[in-house]
Amino acid sequence: MKSHFPGQIIPDHHKDLRDTTYKYNILLANNFRLYEFIEAHPSNSEKFKRIAWKNIEEFNFENSRKGASFLQSLRGYINRVFQDNNDGHEIAIRITSAFRPVEWEKLQGRSGDSIHTLSLAWDIQPVNCSLRLAVQIMKHLENIHWSLDEGHQGGFAVKRPTYNGSRIILAGFIHYDMGRKRRWYY
Ligand SMILES: [Zn+2]
Repeated sequence: MKSHFPGQIIPDHHKDLRDTTYKYNILLANNFRLYEFIEAHPSNSEKFKRIAWKNIEEFNFENSRKGASFLQSLRGYINRVFQDNNDGHEIAIRITSAFRPVEWEKLQGRSGDSIHTLSLAWDIQPVNCSLRLAVQIMKHLENIHWSLDEGHQGGFAVKRPTYNGSRIILAGFIHYDMGRKRRWYY
C-alpha cells in the first residue's frame, strides 16, 4: 500500500510544487526537510531530480517521516559522541540517496526491487566536519551497527572511504534501511 503525500501536498504540477518551496521544504524532523528525501542524489544530478518528481506518486511520505525521525536520532547520537572533536560545531548528516523511483533504477540497470524505491532506505554521510572525522564517525557506526543481534535492526551497508596514499579522497557512505536484517559492503 502506498500512502504518498498527505492530501494537501500531493503535487498537481511538479514544477509548481518545486517553485513553491514552502511545500516541499517542510520539516520532517528538526534537521531534515521533505525535499532531502525526494531529491537526494550523490552528485545532485538534475536528471535524477527530474525523474524523482516525475514519479512522485511512488514516493512514500510516512516512510520518509520514519526515516527523518531515525536520522534525527542518529544525528543526536553522532553529536553526543563526536561534537567535541569537531571544535564544538554540530555535525550534520547529508542524505546522498533516499527515495529512488523504479524508472530511475531501471535506467541504472537495476532490478527496481531496492528498498530505496519504498522510501525506506537512506544513504548518509557526516558533513560539516573534516573528511577525516567523517570517516572516523562512519567507522564507529559500522562498529556499533554491524552486529545482527545488537546492531541496526534492518539493512546496513558500508561504502568504505577512498584513499590516495594517506589522503582521503571520498568519505564513502553508510546505507541504512528498514527492510530485512542484512549486511554488506559496496
Ligand atoms: Zn542505499
